[in-house]
Amino acid sequence: MRYQVGMIITTKKPHVCKSNTWTVIRTGADIKIKCHGCGREVMMPKVELDKKIKQDK
Ligand SMILES: [Zn+2]
Repeated sequence: MRYQVGMIITTKKPHVCKSNTWTVIRTGADIKIKCHGCGREVMMPKVELDKKIKQDK
């Protein structure tokens, strides 16, 4: 999965606020994403995020 700033991603499990959509706000070895429901920002390694998101393919 290749991430770009501004991209919308969907996680398999919803956040604590029950939203499961996020916007990518920083990329690199660690990806920073912002929750659409509560606005919380979370940073995690790319490999970890790859496992948590729903991928189109
Ligand atoms: Zn949230």
